[in-house]
Amino acid sequence: MDETSERQGEAAGRTVLHVDLDAFFASVELRDDPTLRGKPVVVGGDPKGGRGRGVVAAASYEARRFGIHSAMPVSQAYRRCPQAVFLRPRGAEYAATSARFMKILERYSDLVQAISIDEAFLDVTASTRLFGDGERIAREIKRVVREEERLTASIGVAPVKFVAKIASDFDKPDGLVVVAPGDIREFLGRVPIESLWGAGPKAVDRFHGLGVRTIGDVAGVPRERLRDVFGAKSAEHFWRLAHGLDDRRVEPHQERKSVGKETTFLEDVGDREEVETTLLALTESVARRLRKKELAGHTVTVKLRTADFHTVTRQAGLNQPADTVEEIWPLARDLLRKADCSHQAIRLVGVAVSGFESDAQMTLFAPPGRDKGRKIAQALDAVADRFGERAIGRGRTRAANKPRRSPSGGGRSQ
Ligand SMILES: [Mg+2]
Repeated sequence: MDETSERQGEAAGRTVLHVDLDAFFASVELRDDPTLRGKPVVVGGDPKGGRGRGVVAAASYEARRFGIHSAMPVSQAYRRCPQAVFLRPRGAEYAATSARFMKILERYSDLVQAISIDEAFLDVTASTRLFGDGERIAREIKRVVREEERLTASIGVAPVKFVAKIASDFDKPDGLVVVAPGDIREFLGRVPIESLWGAGPKAVDRFHGLGVRTIGDVAGVPRERLRDVFGAKSAEHFWRLAHGLDDRRVEPHQERKSVGKETTFLEDVGDREEVETTLLALTESVARRLRKKELAGHTVTVKLRTADFHTVTRQAGLNQPADTVEEIWPLARDLLRKADCSHQAIRLVGVAVSGFESDAQMTLFAPPGRDKGRKIAQALDAVADRFGERAIGRGRTRAANKPRRSPSGGGRSQ
C-alpha cells in the first residue's frame, strides 16, 4: 500500500456533490416567458444590429447550436444568429432565484459552498443516513429544483470536489453523473486534459507533447518527468489530481450579507442638500469598501431617521452588480428622495449594498468601458488608503466632511 491508495481510502469516505444550474440566466428568461421556448435566447447587451458592444452573459441551448457561448461579444453572437432573441440581463431576478436555489441545497446538508451564482458544492457525507446515498440526494435535489424553480440542474457525485465538478459538466444539461471511489481512475481516463484544474493552454500543449490526451493519462507519466516539464509544485498538483486526490474540503463560508455605512448628525439637519451630500460621501465610502473586499451587489438600501426617531428604509435593485459610486449613487439618491416624504429634520442617514455574487460572474455583466471606470476607482482607492478618505472626494463631498457630523461606528456589515 503506497501513499496513493491510503489517501484515496481516506477520500473514499466522503460524498461530495457539485450542483450546477443549466444555462442559468437564459433558463430564468425561458421560465418567466414561455413564448421564448424553443427559440435561441441570448442574454447580454443590446446587439444593435451587430454594432452593439458588450458580451454574452448566457445563451440558451438553442442559441448554443449556432456557436454562441458566454463571454462572446454580442456583435459576434448577432452575426451568428440574427434571429435570436437578445435580452438585457435581469440581475435582480437572477440573484433572487440564486438565493432560493442555495436555500434548497441547504435542506440536504449544512456544508454548502456556493462558488458562483448558480453552482455550489455540498458535502452530504453526514446526510446519507437521513436522505440516502449521494445519488439519491442528487436525484431529489434535481426534482425539487425542477418543481420549485422550474429550472434544471446538472449534478456530479464523487468522493472529492475536483471529480464532482468535472462530473457535473460531463452530461449537461439535466445531467447526473456518479463516480464511485473505485471508478475515479477509469472516469478520469475519459476526461480530456483540457479539463484539468490548473492547466492553462501552455500546460495543455506540454501535456500533448508528453502524449497525454486525458487526465487519466497523466497518472501514467513518471513523476520525475512531470517535475522536469512543469516544475515541482505544478507536477505534484497535477499528479495528485490525476490520481483522484483532492484534499479540499467543502467550506461553507458565512456569506457577507451587506456592506453599509450610516451617520448620525450631531444636530438634526433640515437642509436637504446637506443630507444628500452626506449620503454621497457615505456611498463613496461603501463603494470603496466593496472594491476592497472584491464584492459587487445588486441591491441598494437607503435608511433615514427623522428628528422624531421615525425610521424609513427604501430598497431597490440594479440590473447589474455594482461596486462604484457612479453605479450606486443615482439609485441611492432616488431612494433618498422617495424616502424623504416629510419636512422633518433628519437625524441619521445611511446606505448599504447587498445581494452579492462572485466576481467571475460580475465580469460577464461588465459593460464596455467599465474596466476603465474601475481603474480610476482603484487609483482613487489607493490615494484614500494612503491619505485617508478626506484627501479625495469629488469636490462636492469634501464640504460634507466638516465636523458637524459624527461618524457613527461606520459599518453595519453583517
Ligand atoms: Mg451553470
